[in-house]
Amino acid sequence: MSGLREQEIIYIHKKEICNNGYGCDCDSLHKVDCKNGLTIIAIRWTRGNKKALATIILIKYWEKFRLLQKFDYTDISATHKIMKRDVGIAYIAMRKIHYNVMRFKETLSVDEAEVLVGRFNSVSGKHYVLHDPEKLAEKYKTAWNNFGININHN
Ligand SMILES: [Zn+2]
Repeated sequence: MSGLREQEIIYIHKKEICNNGYGCDCDSLHKVDCKNGLTIIAIRWTRGNKKALATIILIKYWEKFRLLQKFDYTDISATHKIMKRDVGIAYIAMRKIHYNVMRFKETLSVDEAEVLVGRFNSVSGKHYVLHDPEKLAEKYKTAWNNFGININHN
């Protein structure tokens, strides 16, 4: 549900986490755990015009994910097969769906959604979006709730 690109998921699996918060300029991951069980992870990773800026994930999933010994393209392709079989959607379509879920009823603003899909250009804009993690995490939860998905129980 993170909406990240494949390479980005692999990247954040092993990348070290810095505890200095979003204001920090180092190239490690920076994360904030929110009260509703979500964690917002600021990622600073650019390859050409593809960017990963931030993602939101359930804290418990994040912790399980980081405990995996290995996570690579084999695991992703296994996920593709399961999704195709069980829900009939191609993994690549999930990025589009993810964006539309966030934008439905304007639950998240364009800026917020753009940051979460890695398309936002200005660095200050990114800080603006991430300055209130609790509020963003609540909006994100509401966005999925609009579709009957309660992210605390998945
Ligand atoms: Zn740092």
